[in-house]
Amino acid sequence: MNELTEVLSSYVLFKGKINELYDEKLHYTELFAFVERFSFHRILKLDVLLSEMLKILDRLYPSFQYYLLLTHDYEEINQLPVRDLDYQEENSLALEAYVSGEVTIEQTSTDIVLYAPFLGSQGVYGVLQVITKGIYAIPKADQKYFGLIAKMTGAIIENIQLHQQSQQLIGDLQFINETSQQLNADLRFTETIHFMTEQIKKSFHAEEVGFFLSQDGEKWTPLSGSTSFFFAKKSKAFVTYVQKLMLEKKDALFIGDLTIPYMKASYRSLMAVPMGNLGDMWGFVVILHPMPYYFPFDSFKLLQALIHHTTLAFKNSLLREELEKLVVTDHLTQLFSRSYLDNQVEHSLKSDEKGVLILIDIDDFKMINDEYGHQVGDDILIQVADIIIHHIRASDVGARWGGEELAIYLPNVDAKIGVSIARRLKEKVSRLTSPNVSISCGVSHWKANEEESYATLFHRADVALYEAKNAGKNKVVFLEKDRD
Ligand code: GH3
Ligand code: MG
Ligand code: MG
Repeated sequence: MNELTEVLSSYVLFKGKINELYDEKLHYTELFAFVERFSFHRILKLDVLLSEMLKILDRLYPSFQYYLLLTHDYEEINQLPVRDLDYQEENSLALEAYVSGEVTIEQTSTDIVLYAPFLGSQGVYGVLQVITKGIYAIPKADQKYFGLIAKMTGAIIENIQLHQQSQQLIGDLQFINETSQQLNADLRFTETIHFMTEQIKKSFHAEEVGFFLSQDGEKWTPLSGSTSFFFAKKSKAFVTYVQKLMLEKKDALFIGDLTIPYMKASYRSLMAVPMGNLGDMWGFVVILHPMPYYFPFDSFKLLQALIHHTTLAFKNSLLREELEKLVVTDHLTQLFSRSYLDNQVEHSLKSDEKGVLILIDIDDFKMINDEYGHQVGDDILIQVADIIIHHIRASDVGARWGGEELAIYLPNVDAKIGVSIARRLKEKVSRLTSPNVSISCGVSHWKANEEESYATLFHRADVALYEAKNAGKNKVVFLEKDRD
């Protein structure tokens, strides 16, 4: 009887061992397949990885409950049982597992809870929480298994993150490279700004992008090609505030929740990066988004890198444009030169639908010179030119085509509008100049599908100007096409 009991009990023990071995084999086969799938077949998706791990655990230990305690928000895994590790303060064993990288076990009045860290070689990415009910202890072999599967998962999470980071880095470098290449290509400066604006809008999901430039370090102007927000009247106070901030700091700004005294900020997230050397800031770029804390810090670093790497090309493009402008600009009045006007009108006659030419002559200018001297005469010319510059659009051409004779070309403008612009200018000059002068204007217009050349267009405006003088000066005369 004793012998039989011994044989039977050793058989039961043996059978138990066999079952344990069988279980263990099953566990490790699952683990191996899991690791193989994610390490060797490169399925680099966090949500797939974590849900696959949970499925295995559910299969092997169906009565346990599982939570993923993570340190980051991962948007892609909000379907899974995720809890924020940062809010587990009362849960000291979870934190201990996270900090030490070791499995920890907690015995509460009702449950046994195990924490296994997602341990990579460069850090811990979170903790697997296993909640068991109605058992006295978690066997050592199972503790080891939870520790191992969490560790494997940690290593794969690390892989996924490194892969994402390197993809991001490659993307950033390509972006910087492509942008500087474009800048070095022979783009017009305005096109350059426009291109940069579009690039930044696309890459940073920015709502507004503004480039600012200053000659003297005090007066800052938004460059055309920036988004329209920076030119709008209603944005003036906002833009002035940002400029002030920039001048004070003379360094890059990264603001998550912009508050401006006495003003409701329409944009809460702001990044700005200066161009030029410290102490010699000649430009800056500012990008905005209405939502607070919108731009991640990585974007800030990328924007800095982008501006750092493109500033030289940017400056070159600016100098090239200034050089060209120098040749086409009249030194005294800052209006365009006659040759530039000629080119622009010729070009417009070929490519536009219509246009208006206004010839302007200052009335009795000789008298001004005689009475006040040439210096004052020059100053009057500058005053009249300033009035012109402020009353036409960037696409219009204001030029000095003779001594005290000026001209404006308005591409794609109707005769009626051209005449009203001339009238308004005439009125402004007679009101705003000091010593007071008046102007006479001759206006001509052309439309597509009518035979027209620069010479005939010019001739009509000249005849009209002559008529204006004859009619008593301080007048605008428009000469229609069929009258010449
Ligand atoms: P009108 O109303 O008929 O045009 O009379 P006007 O005195 O303007 O006569 P006119 O156009 O013949 O004379 C132009 C004068 O403008 C002659 C010249 O001394 C003066 N002038 C031309 N260029 C300049 C300049 O750059 N500076 C100054 N101060 N005077 C100039
Ligand atoms: Mg004249
Ligand atoms: Mg004159």
